[in-house]
Amino acid sequence: MSLLSYSVPHKNSAFIFRFAGQGLYHFLMTKSNAPKIHVAVIGAGLSGLTCAQRLQDHGFDVTIFEKSRGKGGRMSTRRSDEGLYFDHGAQYFTVRDPIFQNHVEEWRLDGIVDVWDAEIGTLSNGTYEPKEEETLRYVGIPGMNNIGRHLAAELDVHLETLIAPPIRSGERWLIADEHEFVLDEFEYVITSAPAAQSAKLLQAAPELQRIAENVSMTGCWAVMVSFPQPLELSFDAAFVNDSPLSWISRNNSKPGRDEKPETWVLHASPEWSEEHLEDDKDELLPTLLNTFWQATGLEARQPQFQVAHRWRYALPSEPLTDRCLFDPELRIGACGDWCGGPRVEGAFLSGYDVSSRIIASVKAQSNTH
Ligand SMILES: Cc1cc2nc3c(=O)[nH]c(=O)nc-3n(C[C@H](O)[C@H](O)[C@H](O)COP(=O)(O)OP(=O)(O)OC[C@H]3O[C@@H](n4cnc5c(N)ncnc54)[C@H](O)[C@@H]3O)c2cc1C
Repeated sequence: MSLLSYSVPHKNSAFIFRFAGQGLYHFLMTKSNAPKIHVAVIGAGLSGLTCAQRLQDHGFDVTIFEKSRGKGGRMSTRRSDEGLYFDHGAQYFTVRDPIFQNHVEEWRLDGIVDVWDAEIGTLSNGTYEPKEEETLRYVGIPGMNNIGRHLAAELDVHLETLIAPPIRSGERWLIADEHEFVLDEFEYVITSAPAAQSAKLLQAAPELQRIAENVSMTGCWAVMVSFPQPLELSFDAAFVNDSPLSWISRNNSKPGRDEKPETWVLHASPEWSEEHLEDDKDELLPTLLNTFWQATGLEARQPQFQVAHRWRYALPSEPLTDRCLFDPELRIGACGDWCGGPRVEGAFLSGYDVSSRIIASVKAQSNTH
C-alpha cells in the first residue's frame, strides 16, 4: 500500500515523502552520509528505555512514545500533593547478570542507585523472622523513578501519547496515536508494553501477537500510607505469608529519602489482587490497612495520608523463555519483563536483547546489498 493512500492527518506531511522510492538498504548505516535508521519504541519503562538508549548509542535515530505522564513504567515513584514520595511499583532489584551488573555499577557511580541496607524478613501471623541471606538490594535514589529519568535524559521521549497498533506501509511502519493521527514513520518498531497491551500492538505481526497473547500477567493493588510518628516495628520490610498482603515496606528507610514522616507501601498478593481487581480503590483501602495492622500486630491508627493504586499488569505469571520477540523480515519486535525473565533485571535484559537483534538485522541486511 502506498503512503499516499493514507487519509489520516500527519503532523508533517513533507515527512511522508522523505524516503519515497528508496529501498531500506539506502538507510543502512554502512555509508557515513547515509540517513539514520528510524526506530520507534513504544513504552518508556526500563526495557524500552534500555533498548532505545543502546540503539541511540549505536547511531540509530530513536523515538519513544509513552502513554503516561512519566518515564520508568512500573519502576515509578508517586508524589502526593502533600509532597510525600512512595515507590509504589518495583520495590528494589537484585543483580545476577554481568551486563546488568556493569550498568548498575555505572548508575551507582553516577548517584542514580544505591544499596538498600534494610532489615527484611518474613511475617507470618504476627511473627517476624529475619531473612538470612547476603542478597544486595538496589533502589533508585532519591526514588525508583530516577533510573527511568536518567536513562531517558538524552532520548527523544513523547509522553502522554497512547500509540495505536502500528500500520505496515511498504517497508516501513506508520505510528499513529489513539486518534489515528500519524506521528511518524519508522523502519523498526519495538513494543515494550506489558504482554496484553503488546499483543494488541502486534496485530500486523500475527505470529508474535499469538505468542504475546498467551502470556498472562497478574495485577497488584498497592496502598501508600504515611504516619507522623515511626511505627514500632523492628524491621524495614517483610514478605507477608498467609495474608491478603504479600509485601510491606517502610519507604523512608530507603537511601536518599526523607527520614520523616513515616511512609509505608503495602502490596496485596497476586491472588487477592486478581480477585479484587475491579473493586473501588477507596473501598478496598481500609480492608488492606486492617490487614496490615493484623499482620504486624500493631494497634490500628489513623494514617496522615492514604491512597490505593491498581497495577493492572504487575508481574508475568510465566514469562517466555526467549528474552524478546523479533521478526527480522517485518522489522517489528517486543520486549519487557514478560519475555525471558520477570522483574527489573529481566526487563533490562529483554530491552538489551531486542536492541542486539535490531543491530544484527541491520548488519545482515547491509551485507546482502
Ligand atoms: C507492584 C509491583 C511491584 C514490583 N516489585 C518488584 C521488585 O521488588 N523487584 C523487581 O525486580 N521487580 C518488581 N516489579 C516488576 C518490575 O517493576 C517490572 O519487571 C519492570 O519494571 C518492567 O519493566 P518493563 O519495561 O518491562 O515494563 P513497564 O515498566 O510496564 O513499561 C511499559 C510502558 O509501556 C507503556 N505503554 C503501554 N502501552 C502503551 C501504548 N499503547 N502507547 C504508549 N505507551 C504504552 C506503559 O505506560 C509503561 O510505561 C514490580 C512491579 C509491580 C507493578
